[in-house]
Amino acid sequence: MLRIEHLGIAVKELEKSIPLFEQLLNTPCYKTEKVDTEGVNTAFFKTGESKIELLEATKEGSPIQKFIDKKGEGIHHIAFEVENIEAEMKRLSALGFELLNATPKNGADNKLVCFLHPKTTNGVLIELCQEKR
Ligand code: ZN
Repeated sequence: MLRIEHLGIAVKELEKSIPLFEQLLNTPCYKTEKVDTEGVNTAFFKTGESKIELLEATKEGSPIQKFIDKKGEGIHHIAFEVENIEAEMKRLSALGFELLNATPKNGADNKLVCFLHPKTTNGVLIELCQEKR
């Protein structure tokens, strides 16, 4: 894996959290994007080589809503950038890690993504992401 591409943080309301993180990080939110397939609105901030992704649920029953209902707001996932997402998925699957999707999905910010089930990663939701090219 190349680096931590971003940290995903679950929030109740982007409208409140965007200005909060703009103050905290001292940098403007550079992008917001709705990912309909995931039932989520996202907002991105650059922090050096990495990013922060805020995630807000767009509907009841979406994974982010379930996460917030269970654990409250907070760190939701760690995303690692990979060179070749399909090769990395194969490698991890062969080692016994459970992939949440069998083929790469379209994620926010022009990425192909795949999530690993937290039960095989010490409770941490891991996202693999590769820039679309
Ligand atoms: Zn993410």
